[in-house]
Amino acid sequence: MSRPLRWGLIGASTIAREWMIDAIRSTGGTVASVMSSDRDRATTYGKANGIPHATTSLDALLEEVDAVYISTTNELHHDQVLRSARAGRHILCEKPLALTVGEAREMVDACRAAGVVLGTNHHLRNAGTHRAMREAIAAGRIGRPLFARVFHAVYLPAHLQGWRLTSPNAGAGVVLDITVHDADTLRFVLADDPVEVTALTQSAGMSQGNVEDGAMGAIRFKSGLLAQFHDAFTTAYAKTGFEVHGTDGSLIGTNCMTQKPVGDVLLRTAAGEELLSIDRTNLYERGVARFTAAVNGEGEPAATGEDGIWSLAVAAAALESAKTSRVTEIDPFQSISSKVS
Ligand code: NDP
Repeated sequence: MSRPLRWGLIGASTIAREWMIDAIRSTGGTVASVMSSDRDRATTYGKANGIPHATTSLDALLEEVDAVYISTTNELHHDQVLRSARAGRHILCEKPLALTVGEAREMVDACRAAGVVLGTNHHLRNAGTHRAMREAIAAGRIGRPLFARVFHAVYLPAHLQGWRLTSPNAGAGVVLDITVHDADTLRFVLADDPVEVTALTQSAGMSQGNVEDGAMGAIRFKSGLLAQFHDAFTTAYAKTGFEVHGTDGSLIGTNCMTQKPVGDVLLRTAAGEELLSIDRTNLYERGVARFTAAVNGEGEPAATGEDGIWSLAVAAAALESAKTSRVTEIDPFQSISSKVS
């Protein structure tokens, strides 16, 4: 087993409290310190979650740990990754990696230069459902994949109805929050990369100002496959799903775009219907285990920094498409100085 890590949490966040602290501890790792911008929140959060040190100083946190988990609001990820890399700390960063592709690329380059591991916390790659679909496709069980459909319209729980709905500066909106996950899961399941996207967004009243709370669109992949996506914060009764339809069969994943290790995958071919066998490992625990192994020189994080660039590139192009009403090229190779809108 990999040597466990001593972790620091950058951000006194909900996702860390609900999922990631337990996931870190499941690997034998310790959460040594938490950093918040607010001293009282840091202290309260540390006490509530059994974390021995609480600080408002990033430098102080970096001194104490082997690795950091960054789950602050999205506009802060860029600077926090650069500073953590400079301090030689390994980094598991939340999605979207940054607000622009150029910034994300700078983060990946900085981590490479510093010789530290960078992972993107795209948990859905770790779902047994998506891994089963990826394996079935790789084994040729549906022939040549032609179409995919992602159903990821959910209801944003009341306790998360904050900056995601109101604050463009923090990277608000359903596209940066959910479409990034669709993009990453599609790349993972299909083992293919996206080329262009067309999208429309909706503001149905939950979000404020120009922030979108719903989106639909279609992505063309290198193989020619077309993928449809539907994302929302506003629909309480839609079920999530992920489907891939090929020349010789279809994979129908239901209830699988979720944080829990649930959902089923049905394979339908000329031979009939078969429910695939699904590994129910906790998605976040698997993510931390893969990251810990990578730090120990065994393989790569489940989703790398490059994967985080790709998912952000899809989201950025989808937003651009919605704004311009044009099919938009997906370009993960933009530099920090590239024009971004
Ligand atoms: P939260 O709103 O819970 O936390 C984000 C920041 O908001 C915290 O770092 C904290 O700042 C501040 N904050 C938290 N609670 C309060 C409060 N009561 N009053 C004032 N400020 C507060 O966000 P999430 O946990 O939902 O998301 C954080 C990151 O994780 C985002 O990048 C998001 O995209 C990502 N995410 C990823 C998921 C996944 O499955 N991969 C799922 C959910 C989120 P401070 O640290 O300064 O205290």
